[in-house]
Amino acid sequence: MTILGATGSVGQSTLDLIERNREHYEVLALTAFRDVAGLAAAAKRVDARAAVIGDENLLGDLKEALAGTEIEIAAGREAVIDAARSGADWTMAAIVGCAGLKPVMAAIEGGGTIALANKEALVSAGNIMMQAACSSGTRLLPVDSEHNAIFQCLDRDRPEAVRRITLTASGGPFRTWTLDQMRKASPAQAVAHPNWSMGAKISVDSATLMNKGLELIEAFHLFPPQPDALGVVIHPQSVIHSLVEYVDGSVLAQLGAPDMRIPIAHTLAWPERMETPCQRLDLVAIGKLDFEEPDLERFPALALAKSVLGEGGAGPAILNAANEIAVASFLDNRIGFLDIATIAGKTLESFAPAAPFTLDEVLEIDAEARSVAGAIARKYEI
Ligand code: NAD
Ligand code: MG
Repeated sequence: MTILGATGSVGQSTLDLIERNREHYEVLALTAFRDVAGLAAAAKRVDARAAVIGDENLLGDLKEALAGTEIEIAAGREAVIDAARSGADWTMAAIVGCAGLKPVMAAIEGGGTIALANKEALVSAGNIMMQAACSSGTRLLPVDSEHNAIFQCLDRDRPEAVRRITLTASGGPFRTWTLDQMRKASPAQAVAHPNWSMGAKISVDSATLMNKGLELIEAFHLFPPQPDALGVVIHPQSVIHSLVEYVDGSVLAQLGAPDMRIPIAHTLAWPERMETPCQRLDLVAIGKLDFEEPDLERFPALALAKSVLGEGGAGPAILNAANEIAVASFLDNRIGFLDIATIAGKTLESFAPAAPFTLDEVLEIDAEARSVAGAIARKYEI
């Protein structure tokens, strides 16, 4: 197996499961962007064949950190892509952002099973990625907890029997905040997710609900639902991870503790099941489950994602790229929290390229959207 983004939150959860079952797995490659120490330590622990660092300037540091081992070393963007293509039976795609797109596409070329956490890649490339997976015979298993839940509940042989797919959302740390409070929210407050421990970018996306918007687009590609059959409900306890309603009125849901090792284990063992050390659900201790309608006025990012979902074309790639730029600016304390969705919306309005049909076209749109969003973001700088 290969783990792309091995030093991140999802990468580390994946490594935890592998380390508990060392005899079952052989690790081909681990990749990371800049965390040399984390990468080297993980590569030693799982006896990886190769360790690849995305930042080419860190080749020397990685060599030093892995001196005296047999682990092959490489650095640079192309090296990450090559590692992705190396033909693992199972690849965890857990790089954050559209930076993961080329590696995921290379992994798809390499074949095998891909556990897909990197939603931004699928949002940006949509049909192109799904078609590539289809023609190479690669199986994409969703890691995102909602999509993994849907995958577990969906009767793929009877798509016509599905009436509705509902994604649950915790509502994030600002679920009950007023717009005035949200305007002053700091990066530390935005990253403090009430239920899940995740990387900084997805934590901010959960606070704006852009994450749920990206997940609607992700679901649209993974489980081609009927138009208008996708919904979102706020469920603050994060116990129900998503629901599938059938024409007869039956609703199937997947429940579990909010621990990413559960969906990751599902994709690792699929179609079997494996033991995990995760906390078991105690429904009596939880007591009650709440549900609310999402508030599109306080969380306009969700409305933006819904609008591009309906229109298709270049919109999802533009929205994703603009959001990545805006979130990075916010995390850098350069713009306010509410400016994130404003910048994403203004970027979407400011140019309308033709729908992409190739990976290069997606990457061109992504690059242009980043530059437009960057220019807009500078106007909002505090
Ligand atoms: P993270 O920031 O914790 O980790 C990201 C990983 O990607 C790191 O290993 C980093 O080194 C690598 N990386 C970053 N930029 C890179 C680049 N330019 N080139 C190569 N590698 C690069 O992120 P995360 O929270 O683990 O999330 C990873 C992906 O999984 C995201 O797409 C996220 O939306 C998705 N996801 C995460 C969770 C979660 O619980 N964390 C849940 C669902 C989905
Ligand atoms: Mg999710």
